[in-house]
Amino acid sequence: MAILLPGGQVTVRGSREPYGPRVVSGELQCEASMTCQRCLQPVTVKLNGSIHWGLVFSEGEMQGLDQELDPILIEEGQLFLRQAIEDEMVLLLPIMPMHDSCDSGWTPDPEPGDVSESKSPFAVLAALKNEQGS
Ligand SMILES: [Zn+2]
Repeated sequence: MAILLPGGQVTVRGSREPYGPRVVSGELQCEASMTCQRCLQPVTVKLNGSIHWGLVFSEGEMQGLDQELDPILIEEGQLFLRQAIEDEMVLLLPIMPMHDSCDSGWTPDPEPGDVSESKSPFAVLAALKNEQGS
């Protein structure tokens, strides 16, 4: 689950080799709000990526494309730039987003009593052991 934050920057430029594919290259920078996998609070992750697209007009052309290029299929003569950029950003999202340091003043909700302790499976096991022992 990630929310792309506004203010991202994308620069793209197209070029074409005389006998090569149409190439779109560029840079993208943006930020996304994700959930920290350590403290489960929102964390803003920076996404920096580069774009190396080769525009193809059929599945067949996709096969023959330079390996260094990501194939972007042009459908009905259109490059769905926004879609292609979003796809690119999704690839940049970290699998395990985390704060550099989670101690940002946030502490778990103080709950009354030893709720967290009794929820722990280890605490339950310990309780069972004690029952058997006595
Ligand atoms: Zn965190």
